[in-house]
Amino acid sequence: MQAPVHSEESFATLDGTGIRYAVFFQGCPFKCAYCHNPDTQPFAGGTPAQADALVKKILRYKTYFKGGGGVTFSGGEPLLHPEFILECEQKLKTFGIGCALDTSGAVALNEAVRAAVDASEMVILDIKMPDEEGYERYIGGSIKNPLALLDYCISIKKRLWLRTVIVPGINDTFEKIDEYLKLLGKRVLCAEKYELLAFHTLGFSKYEKLGWDNPLKSVPALSNEKLALLQAHLDGAIAAMR
Ligand code: SF4
Repeated sequence: MQAPVHSEESFATLDGTGIRYAVFFQGCPFKCAYCHNPDTQPFAGGTPAQADALVKKILRYKTYFKGGGGVTFSGGEPLLHPEFILECEQKLKTFGIGCALDTSGAVALNEAVRAAVDASEMVILDIKMPDEEGYERYIGGSIKNPLALLDYCISIKKRLWLRTVIVPGINDTFEKIDEYLKLLGKRVLCAEKYELLAFHTLGFSKYEKLGWDNPLKSVPALSNEKLALLQAHLDGAIAAMR
């Protein structure tokens, strides 16, 4: 099985527990206004990877995965390649290595996607906007597939993290956080954590390199202080629901 890989990172620490080998696939159905990796969006490009060769390469790092580490499939959108991921997951599992899926949920659920999710150790799902209008305006897609994936993960009791990127002027208010909570309802209680991430400007130069217009070029990075306030508001509301 073969899939287009944009890049790999052998000592990733953010997308899952412990030390991770992160594989970023090329291609994404969404077009988030705040995307910091716009070069992963085009479906053309990337380096074709063979599952066997990738697994062999990952095994060289096995010793670093002790203490909860493993592999994270990210993107772009990893679930565009569910058969490839399933093959990797099954092979890595025989060596005691678990895999996380870091996904926007953009891909419609089908048998292959479900199988890749089933075989994963955990799912990290982005909830990008609190409503369909926000998805249409800022993400270039629909909220339906991400919510269907969320419900599927909950139905099979998959270990789950939720994430939302907070962008100044778009969703950086307590009221907006309440809208996410309203959308998700009791479903937030099924997630091990719900993490807010700060919009940053590190990906801006990539838009220039691609010759693309950056719709948020005048938006500043979100401060750590503001992020902490919003996270505390979210955590407090979730604790009150328990
Ligand atoms: S889902 Fe991720 S990779 Fe795709 S456009 Fe959005 S931020 Fe970029």
